[in-house]
Order: sequence, then structure tokens, then C-alpha cells
Amino acid sequence: MVKVPFFDWAGLYNERADDFSRIAHQTLSRGGFILQKDVEEFEANLARYVGSKYAVGVSDGTNAILLGLRASGVKPGDEIIIAGHSFIAAAQSIHFAGAVPVPVELDEDDWLISPEAIEAAITPKTKAIMPVHVNGRVCKMDRILEIAERHGLEVFEDSAQAMGARFDGKGAGTIGRWGTFSFYPSKTLGCFGDAGGFVTNDEEIAERVRAMRNHGANKEKSIPLDVDVWGTNARLDNLHAAILNYKLGYYDEAIARRREIAGRYHEALKGVEGVRLPPAPDADDRYFDIYQNYEFCHPRRDALRKYLSGRDIGTIVQWGGFGIHQLNGLGMARDLPRTDRFFKESLLLPLNHILTDEQVDHVLKALSDFFSGGEA
Ligand SMILES: *Cc1c(COP(=O)(O)O)cnc(C)c1O
Repeated sequence: MVKVPFFDWAGLYNERADDFSRIAHQTLSRGGFILQKDVEEFEANLARYVGSKYAVGVSDGTNAILLGLRASGVKPGDEIIIAGHSFIAAAQSIHFAGAVPVPVELDEDDWLISPEAIEAAITPKTKAIMPVHVNGRVCKMDRILEIAERHGLEVFEDSAQAMGARFDGKGAGTIGRWGTFSFYPSKTLGCFGDAGGFVTNDEEIAERVRAMRNHGANKEKSIPLDVDVWGTNARLDNLHAAILNYKLGYYDEAIARRREIAGRYHEALKGVEGVRLPPAPDADDRYFDIYQNYEFCHPRRDALRKYLSGRDIGTIVQWGGFGIHQLNGLGMARDLPRTDRFFKESLLLPLNHILTDEQVDHVLKALSDFFSGGEA
């Protein structure tokens, strides 16, 4: 029988194993370990791809956010507004930068941060809004920028799930002051370990992050001398940069495949009673979604999950079913009933570019059997 694991980890390498091992050999045999030409090339390619002036390769998406916050002068006590339906990484980075994450509700139409909820959460201490472009769709950035401007706030984008997504022609991560990406293996541009990117059009912030990721070293010196900024080690490994450079070469195809599968899920689910779906790939010309995930809601989520598992189909409830506002031990507790309801019903179906047509058909058939009562 066809098996559809939620994510095929080995498949990430095996899809082009010969090319990957050739690149690894070429890079390692010339000693290209730390901050060699591959990192520089990847930074240039990343900036070009998403449409930013500057890009800095960093160790992972979490540190990308932390360095961005520290480079932006975020101070202890500053409040940063973020959706409760976000990954803990962004809230952790806000905390480690000394600031306070303030979780708010999502919107019903796109399940991303609600502009009304942002506005209602603004206090004299608010410093910034951090839209998290969850599942590969850009938040309502026109309204978020307008609110930010009216209240004198910064906008920092956690675009870990949205590299290459666009809103009104602008790339995720390039719309606010800065944006960040994750190249964690299961992300749309997945590497073979941890890796991340930072993008901005602000030269000063770019230079500060570039220094901070390498112990504060300034541009001309690889060994940190005359350090004038507190840094750390958050470098992008050169080997990973070489792999990412190669993978960027067929990233458009990978995204097209994701969008095609998302379209098929949409067609199969759109008439089902009680179901709530994300916007379809061609629903709105202003948005280009990259479908990091296909997340949808159904009141019988748990039964469906069990049924799919019986057919060897792996699914996931994003972030284990908890929003950051539910992590009581971290002091961010908030009452967000709309987000809580979402987490009770939401489910991620397998979605990545290495799924075969046979696997997608298998998922569609199982969904159809479940919803037509064939589950009995
Ligand atoms: C994956 C992810 C991150 C963290 O990225 P890492 O590279 O794993 O540190 C941050 N935010 C969101 C929304 C993510 O999905």
C-alpha cells in the first residue's frame, strides 16, 4: 500500500543525492567550511530572489530574529505584538532581546494576525509589530504598515515559512524593516541541518547583523578586532550555503509543485460540510502563497487524523496544538478564544515538492472516503 509520511526526511537528500554529494565533495575538498564564497554567493542570490537590498546568512531562523531585534535597538520592556498562532521561536527571540511578546488573535479569512487585534493591543510601550507569515501566506501587510505608521511602530517580519511568497508584488520579509527565513529541513527551502537568512533594505541594520553573527567582526576583518557591537556565533555554515545555492536553482519548480498539490486539496475539500479551508492558490491576485503547509479546519479533526493514520498518511497539528498565548509558564497568557478554537480543529496534510502523484491521489481518496462516510 502507498505510504505518505508527513515528511520524508531521507527523501530530502535522496531526491538528488548525486548532485548533493558532488557539491559536498567540491566544497569540503577545498576547505570551504566557514564564511567562504558560497555564503557570499548565497546571500547575493537570496537578496535577488526575494527582492531585498541586503541578505545575511545566519545559523537558523530563530537567531535571525534575535539578531534583527538586537540590531534594531529593541530595549528591555518594549512590547512587540505577535499572533498567538505563531511558533514559539519568535516569542523566544523577543524575550531574549529583553522585550515582551504580546500575543493577539488571528483573522478568520486568512488565519494570520488580525489588524484590528493589533490596534487594540497597542500601548505606550509598544515598539513593533511582528507579523508571522504562517503557512507561506503573507499577512495583511497594507493594513499592518498603515497601523504601524499611524502609531510610530516598527514592523519586523518572521517569514520563516514564507520565502518567495508575495503580497502586491513584494516578497515576504522585504515589506517591513527586515525579515527572516528558516532553512530548517522541512521548510520550503530545506537544508540538511539548521540554517537561516536575514534580509533588509536598511544598510545599517544589515551591517550590524552581519557583524553580530560573527562575534561582532566588522566587514574587513574575519577575526573580530576593534569590536564595537556585542555579537555571537550565528554564522551560516558554508557547506549549507553551497547546498542552498544549488537548491535555489529549482526552488520555483518546488513552489509550483506545492501550489499544484494545495490546489488539489482545495478542490477535494471545498464542498465538505463543516470544513474551513485556507485561501486557494488562485483566490486573490494580490497574494502569491507558497504553501509551506496545507492547514485546514474540521470539527472532527481528531477522528479524521486517526482515520488517515490508519491509511498510512501522516498529519500534524501545528505546534502541537498550542498557541504561544497558551504557554502559561512563560508569562504570555492571554484569552484568545478564536485562536483556541482554531487549534482544536486545525490539521496539516502532507505537503512538499517530493510527494508523488500516487501519494497525493492516496491522500485525496482517503479524504473522500472519510467525508463520504466510508470510514465506517
Ligand atoms: C521554523 C520557524 C522558525 C524558526 O526557524 P529555525 O530555523 O528552526 O530556528 C521561526 N518562526 C516560524 C514561523 C517557523 O516556522
